[in-house]
Amino acid sequence: MKSIRLRAGKERSLQRRHPWVFEGSIDKGGADPGETVRVEAADGRFLAWGAYSPKSMIRVRAWSFDEAERIDAAFFQRRVERAVALRARLPIASDGQRLVHGEADGLPGLVVDRYGDALCTQFGAAGTERWKTVIADALLAATGTERIYERSDTSVRALEGLAPATGWLRGEGGTELTIREHDWQLTLDLASGHKTGYYLDQRDNRALFAEAVRHHGCQQVLNCYSYTGGFSVAALAGGAAEVTSVDSSAPALARAEAHVRLNGFDAARHRSADADVNRFLRDSLAEGRRYDAIVLDPPKFAPTAAHAERAARAYKDINRLALMLLAPGGLLFTFSCSGGIGAELFHKIVAGAAIDAGADGAILRRLEGAPDHPTTLLFPEGEYLKGLVILRS
Ligand code: SAH
Repeated sequence: MKSIRLRAGKERSLQRRHPWVFEGSIDKGGADPGETVRVEAADGRFLAWGAYSPKSMIRVRAWSFDEAERIDAAFFQRRVERAVALRARLPIASDGQRLVHGEADGLPGLVVDRYGDALCTQFGAAGTERWKTVIADALLAATGTERIYERSDTSVRALEGLAPATGWLRGEGGTELTIREHDWQLTLDLASGHKTGYYLDQRDNRALFAEAVRHHGCQQVLNCYSYTGGFSVAALAGGAAEVTSVDSSAPALARAEAHVRLNGFDAARHRSADADVNRFLRDSLAEGRRYDAIVLDPPKFAPTAAHAERAARAYKDINRLALMLLAPGGLLFTFSCSGGIGAELFHKIVAGAAIDAGADGAILRRLEGAPDHPTTLLFPEGEYLKGLVILRS
């Protein structure tokens, strides 16, 4: 077993059971991509078993802090079973579920989503890549499913020195699937959808949106960055008279339109706009439009804290425009999925947008990702999705 020796004083983070070892903390040692290493303090004390990744800034991701634990097929079976068992205890109103959420489930770099009888995986780090076959077997055993599609085409693979990999890892068949979310049917394509096909993390916020649209009697609804229209279907279910989905992806909008019909809503109540959201909001203002409810769910503007400043300006801009477009008493559901922007900073950004918009409002709720995307006590970096529900005064 190869060892990685840390510099003096660099053991603190692992002692707090945080799973990452950065390049700069290492004194000596090395291994092959994904190989299991013993990470030890400067004085040789055991700290963790981890996966070595020679190209990554995150040079080791810890598998276990227990010296007696062996990193073998049984280890991955235990971790996968634990993750699946957790979901079984959570209130998840869908057969689309995140089964493994990386570090939060003790499996750094691994994402597994379940869509009905198919799983979709992302192997995002050298360690998960090395154990891919073992992990695939463990997933099939723990879930009773027979099909796994791989979507290891995220940009983080490049940072790990890994080439993209996509396709059926186990089983085969069509990649077009239908899931049930709350009372709705939604479709996705494992092969061409964003991420693993769908944004499961917004599930509960969509239900809250439907409820809010109903409660406040919102008639004109604007869903910005709609993707395949999850929030649009929610708005229609909540009784909105007219919903507009805005996205820059034509295939996503085509699917949003199909979702309106699939769920039995009159297609005349839905309009889609293939446009840049910022442009669309400005044009709508110029045209004197007003909305009773607006969703802003943009892509990640700030992947890390280093991008926070530019991202903050972009968030502020769209929030300012959205607040100006809201009728008095209107609702804003505004989100950020940027790891580099914390909840407190996001609050400040939206407050700044309100000042510039000449608007004020009450924060009705603070939102986060659905519980199958857990944030753990020991890994705060896992917290990425945050949102505010604002009632404009
Ligand atoms: N709210 C969605 C998920 C949004 S993901 C849901 O509930 O499923 C972000 C979306 O923003 C993607 O669909 C992407 O195509 C779109 N997008 C990214 N940049 C955009 C831009 N500048 N203007 C419009 N849409 C954009």
